[in-house]
Amino acid sequence: MSGRRRIAIVGAGLGGLTAAVALGRIGVEATVYEKAPDPQAHGGALWLWANAVNALAAVGLADRVVAAGTVVRGYEIKTWRGRLLWRFPVDRLRRDYEVPVLFVSRGDLVRILTAELDRRRLHYGARCRGFEETGAGVVPLFDETGGSPAPFDGLLGADGLHSAIRRQLLGDRPARAAGQVAWTGIAETDSRLWRLPPGEMVTYVGHGIRFTAGTADLERPGRERRVFWYSTENRSRGDRIIHPGELADLYREYQPAIAAVVERTDHPIRFPVRDRSPTARWGQGAVSLVGDAAHPSAPDIAQGACQSIEGAVVAARWLRRIDDVAEAFRAYERERMPRTARIVASSRLMNTFMRADLPGMNLVRNLGIRLAMPAWMINEYRFILDYDPGRELE
Ligand SMILES: Cc1cc2nc3c(=O)[nH]c(=O)nc-3n(C[C@H](O)[C@H](O)[C@H](O)COP(=O)(O)OP(=O)(O)OC[C@H]3O[C@@H](n4cnc5c(N)ncnc54)[C@H](O)[C@@H]3O)c2cc1C
Repeated sequence: MSGRRRIAIVGAGLGGLTAAVALGRIGVEATVYEKAPDPQAHGGALWLWANAVNALAAVGLADRVVAAGTVVRGYEIKTWRGRLLWRFPVDRLRRDYEVPVLFVSRGDLVRILTAELDRRRLHYGARCRGFEETGAGVVPLFDETGGSPAPFDGLLGADGLHSAIRRQLLGDRPARAAGQVAWTGIAETDSRLWRLPPGEMVTYVGHGIRFTAGTADLERPGRERRVFWYSTENRSRGDRIIHPGELADLYREYQPAIAAVVERTDHPIRFPVRDRSPTARWGQGAVSLVGDAAHPSAPDIAQGACQSIEGAVVAARWLRRIDDVAEAFRAYERERMPRTARIVASSRLMNTFMRADLPGMNLVRNLGIRLAMPAWMINEYRFILDYDPGRELE
């Protein structure tokens, strides 16, 4: 192929932005189209495992992300009454892989990635409704009148769970509802109310509800605590909870500290939890999918964003190796499909196991967390972390 290749990316979430940065690093011109009117620099907390930090290292951004985040030193799963069920050896994994596990605000990550891009190639307020493949290339199609861009050499759909690009490629099968509602946010609170020290994370498990939170490193001395949290409620309860105040009331029954964290969060975000079973293909010709558009998973092993970031770097790695965009995308898909299928399945298994909404299931789940989960989780995370997304992009 002669000249600089040009790729259109639909969606400026973490997958789309990482893809744009990674393509820039290998000399491919990436143009991003995002339906939101501006960068989505809000939206709660993310737990970034070492595999995502490695992928960010491949595009030269790991140090900045580590500086913006908090290194997780310990993670415990507890009952509502505070009884320890398991302490996950996060520190041991960090030592073995020599890369930290972090929690970081999604907004900081969006800002770090966006700062790497040429603003002239980031188009906000551009809702893509599909694409057209012609002999001249691939053209993204938009709702707005005002013309279409010149054809691109390829297009990556990074437009998330309800992807329009996926719909055109694979048909419109709805994502599977996991029967849960999730909330996430970042709270400023007080160490007298929230005692968990910086760098520590905890999940409290209850009957059909779960609350996970990590305390960020203190940015300034004093009593303030920054708490990154997310919660899931099974549908029977979660559906009735529409306002953050109602969520705080639900958790007040269990632990006043959690209610205080929810109450001190500006604009917590609510999502129904959904995933998709793996499909036999993700693309056709010079079009493919990345991130949640391809393989959305339940949040239970905290890999959705990590896999979006990883996939974006791997797509760039194949485009670096192979000039022909369609061929490079098929090679990327062959590498990524088995890995993400396993991660979607593990997340779903964990989600089903942790939901515990039948009578007596709490006890079975708690026993499972103590006896079976340690070996299973360590094995899953070793599979996740034993992967090199592409150091050669450096
Ligand atoms: C409660 C909760 C907690 C989670 N915690 C973690 C965690 O700790 N760690 C982790 O790794 N993952 C976590 N996840 C999963 C993670 O948030 C997602 O997997 C990740 O954000 C997916 O990124 P993406 O870029 O693929 O898609 P998205 O973030 O959904 O981005 C898609 C982008 O495309 C845009 N878009 C959509 N349609 C169009 C269109 N037609 N035209 C143009 N633009 C469009 C959207 O506006 C959006 O900006 C969590 C999820 C939930 C619900």
